[in-house]
Amino acid sequence: MLSREEINKKLDKLRKSRIEDGSYKSVKPVNAMCYSMMFPTSITIQKDCYHCHKTFDIETTDIDNDFDEYEEIVKKFLKVGVEAELRYLCPDCIKEKGHELELMIKIDSNEIISYPYVGHFGINIDSKKTSNLLDYELVIMFLSKNHTYKSFLKDDNFSMDFRDRQVDKFMIDRALNMILGLDIEYDKKEAMKQFECFVNKYSGLKKEIKKYNKKFNEKLNQIDGDVLKIEQFAELLESIFNF
Ligand SMILES: [Zn+2]
Repeated sequence: MLSREEINKKLDKLRKSRIEDGSYKSVKPVNAMCYSMMFPTSITIQKDCYHCHKTFDIETTDIDNDFDEYEEIVKKFLKVGVEAELRYLCPDCIKEKGHELELMIKIDSNEIISYPYVGHFGINIDSKKTSNLLDYELVIMFLSKNHTYKSFLKDDNFSMDFRDRQVDKFMIDRALNMILGLDIEYDKKEAMKQFECFVNKYSGLKKEIKKYNKKFNEKLNQIDGDVLKIEQFAELLESIFNF
């Protein structure tokens, strides 16, 4: 089993070269899966709710079955030496708790819970606390190899359908924070570089980029000290882009 100490060593290795220029770019996974033309077959999965213990049905199709994909993630955690379990919630408990699934991992006998996103039941869920398949895949990649950001972003060994999402350093950091519970702090230089990378990814206009960078820099300077937690960084992003 992987220990917290071993995981922290991986994190040290990953974050050692974080100011390197090569780390601030976004890459598109090359192995996006192609669906062949197939008619989906309806399937019903029966599960017990982890919270109220009621048995309930999930109606889905063999093609849209993301639940199976998260079961695969659990297997991948076990393979890299991390105990993991997927916990299902019934629609009533989803409404009450604001998430659809819980993925529990155990490190040094401490349970860490994250919230896989499926979007299946048509119930409003708190998207800020959820993680998607790509986030989990990034965490598995982190656990299975000793990566630097550069090697991470070069690695084209992505095995799943990422729906054309682009990977960047912040996505890796956020996934490690949300799913493994790792504390990640940005020094201001790192935060600024990360922000510039983010703006370049989402905005095409030079004038706009300049405006956003200035706005972020101002907000950054209002923070005391030289470091901020990744959660603070995410809040800053949110305050600037209003999402
Ligand atoms: Zn329930």
